[in-house]
Amino acid sequence: MSKEEKDTKITINETEEEDDYSGKRKAGRVLPIFIIGLLATCYYIFVVELCIFTVQLLEAKVTFLVIFHLLFLLCVWCYLRTVMTPPAVPPEKFRPSESDKQLYLSDERPQVLQEILIRAAKDLPIYTKDPKGDVRYCTTCHVIKPDRCHHCPVCNVCILKLDHHCVFLNNCVGFSNYKFFLLAVMYGVLLCIFTSAVSLYCSILFWTHQLPNSPSKVPIIVLFSLTTIFAIILFLFLFTHFVLALLNVTSRENKDNTVDDTADDTADDTTEENNPYYLGFSKNLREVFGNEKKYWFLPIFSSLGDGVSFPMGEVTMDIEKNAAIAAKPPSESHSQLLEVKTTQKP
Ligand SMILES: [Zn+2]
Ligand SMILES: [Zn+2]
Repeated sequence: MSKEEKDTKITINETEEEDDYSGKRKAGRVLPIFIIGLLATCYYIFVVELCIFTVQLLEAKVTFLVIFHLLFLLCVWCYLRTVMTPPAVPPEKFRPSESDKQLYLSDERPQVLQEILIRAAKDLPIYTKDPKGDVRYCTTCHVIKPDRCHHCPVCNVCILKLDHHCVFLNNCVGFSNYKFFLLAVMYGVLLCIFTSAVSLYCSILFWTHQLPNSPSKVPIIVLFSLTTIFAIILFLFLFTHFVLALLNVTSRENKDNTVDDTADDTADDTTEENNPYYLGFSKNLREVFGNEKKYWFLPIFSSLGDGVSFPMGEVTMDIEKNAAIAAKPPSESHSQLLEVKTTQKP
């Protein structure tokens, strides 16, 4: 393929990708409004049509309203925290000095560019390299990417421990808001299951003529259908993310099929064997939810770490040892880590 053909192909691909990203940006502006509209509609049907107009018994009315409002407030609080928390970006120390940046921009030879990056990254706690074994550098943000950091093409910025870009939130889910995101989905599932069960109960009363026909009947049946569908979708979504959190793997890493870009290529999935961040189920969950149990179920930031360096389980069993390895030059520490990994494998 000639250089011109190659250039044209790259330009076409980039244009298609940019269209895709601008589509996601537009969808991201509309979908949160759609979600809030849907929540408001369900709120109205449950509180007004179901609890106030349909349920006769005062005790049942109060119980339904208290449980519903508790779950609703927690769900909306977590959702808003996920939407409004700005994604964490790499700290300043990961930005090469102005002179290094100019040197990088003025050269095109891959080996020279790598030498500049290796020098700039020599004191940084970096373990992950790109598939070629090079220091990962974002040419858009001009930043050396910390471990588990990826560039989000929709937000056009590098995000620490990027999980995914969510169009329903119009925000990236990453280190700063992953806990809020998991809680929002969890409370969403509980809210949908509760609302679905109560509206099913009322629907059965309508069908069996234990309740007289009223204008509330249709909205309640619509509420039952909507919440049942959302309960199933959200439960599957929550299950997937809970398993990933249990394994200490982000969606992005799971999609890429590996956490360590330069690790064993024969590994066909992200398991504890090729995941250097796997610490055991309990410690993996504590990385997201923190050590203080009183904050686990509230949208208050309690994740462990700084989003830049992460304790490693399989390779080294304690944080101190990790810190000692990270303090060495990246190339040395990396080869040492891989060496340890190789010897540990059966
Ligand atoms: Zn970037
Ligand atoms: Zn994003």
